[in-house]
Amino acid sequence: MDTNLILKAITFAAEKHKYQRRKGFNQVPYINHPLKVCKLLSDCGEEDEILLVGAILHDVIEDTDSTTDEIIKEFGEDTCKLVLEVTDDKEVSKSERKEFQINNAPLSSLNARKLKIADKICNMRDIISYPLDWSMERKLNYLKWAKKVFDACGNVNPLLEKIFTNTYNEGIELLGEGLVEMHKT
Ligand code: ZN
Repeated sequence: MDTNLILKAITFAAEKHKYQRRKGFNQVPYINHPLKVCKLLSDCGEEDEILLVGAILHDVIEDTDSTTDEIIKEFGEDTCKLVLEVTDDKEVSKSERKEFQINNAPLSSLNARKLKIADKICNMRDIISYPLDWSMERKLNYLKWAKKVFDACGNVNPLLEKIFTNTYNEGIELLGEGLVEMHKT
């Protein structure tokens, strides 16, 4: 493992995301998110540098002024290709992007599928445990959509899949209960 490369990616992403906060999540610095995605993949036994560096950089093209040329120059073509595989096309509507993620998942590389699942796990965890001004329905809809993408990804890493399923079930239970409570009152 090239520690220097990982640190370079962290520094690069931290600089790119420096003025960003996670939406609604109590002003949590944005960089916390890609770092958690990377750590989760590592915890699940993933050691591939392209995957781990790609995880740290996975939102820089979508959400910052980073360009593909910059990523290629600093981290090489394979890493850039992976980041692009998990980058949404912001030219199309949100619902089209969501639909595309489901349809495109089976066609994605193995690393991209692992990264997509780890990203969804971290987002679900944030939705479940951080204060977020989304309605219960909206939270549940995110979880259900994430599950569709997960199912479309197929088998990638047994531990990662298990964590996804546990997080999803926990979320459905918690949010489902909240929804029932809400309709009672
Ligand atoms: Zn992400």
